[in-house]
Amino acid sequence: MRQWGMIQGCELCGERDETRDHLFFACPFAYSIWEGPARWLLGNGVNPDWQWTVQKLQRMGTKGIDSCLARLYFQACIYLIWRERNSRRHHQPRNSVVQLQRLTDKAMRNKIYSLKYPTDHRLGGMLRRWFEVTM
Ligand SMILES: [Zn+2]
Repeated sequence: MRQWGMIQGCELCGERDETRDHLFFACPFAYSIWEGPARWLLGNGVNPDWQWTVQKLQRMGTKGIDSCLARLYFQACIYLIWRERNSRRHHQPRNSVVQLQRLTDKAMRNKIYSLKYPTDHRLGGMLRRWFEVTM
């Protein structure tokens, strides 16, 4: 849309110029969804900057429970924030921050259940860890 000369505002907070970096996660609405579990999984340095977030996820590697949960949570947030943005753009009902936090939590639980890791697998404690970071 930008390449066609159309500047669109953020549907979530009203910011005049919606960009990727704004939506993920400089937007106060989007950051409110991302921040809680992200602070536990990525560390206290978590912030709204896209580059920092992507680099942090890459540096965490792919082996541990927290890095796996962080990447799944990142995906869930990207998907649900983008869906909310499109829903509002097309005049569908709006979800609040609390509703989206519940939806991301449900998406995470469903994903973790679907993985069916046995308890002795190195990722077998994912659901317990997810409960720890969302309490
Ligand atoms: Zn915004």
